[in-house]
Amino acid sequence: MAELFNCPACGAGLDYDRAAQPDNAATVECPYCHNSVIVPAELRPPAAMSVETRPAPEAQPEATVRVQRIKLTPQQTRWIWIVILVAFVLPSCITIGVSLLGVILGIAAPLLAILLPWLLGAR
Ligand SMILES: [Zn+2]
Repeated sequence: MAELFNCPACGAGLDYDRAAQPDNAATVECPYCHNSVIVPAELRPPAAMSVETRPAPEAQPEATVRVQRIKLTPQQTRWIWIVILVAFVLPSCITIGVSLLGVILGIAAPLLAILLPWLLGAR
């Protein structure tokens, strides 16, 4: 259902199609002067509709605030990672490193014990 009213800037007749407006937009762009024209209140959808849609946007910020309270700041997240690193990753790396060193020394020591006298004796 298209309503007609005049653009206050250039006086051109404007069509306002309630159904075609996204989110019951209160303004339309004048196709002649490209002005953003506020639609007269009597042409807009009934006030009861806008009151009904209002609680939803108000409820959303409350929900995001609740999520933000649980959300950690980047600094907190960094500290948690540091604690995990120091408590779990670092000991694991040291253990693996020492084990590898032990294995390498375990292989190298007998070889050296055999090779060193042979090298010294060959001279
Ligand atoms: Zn205009």
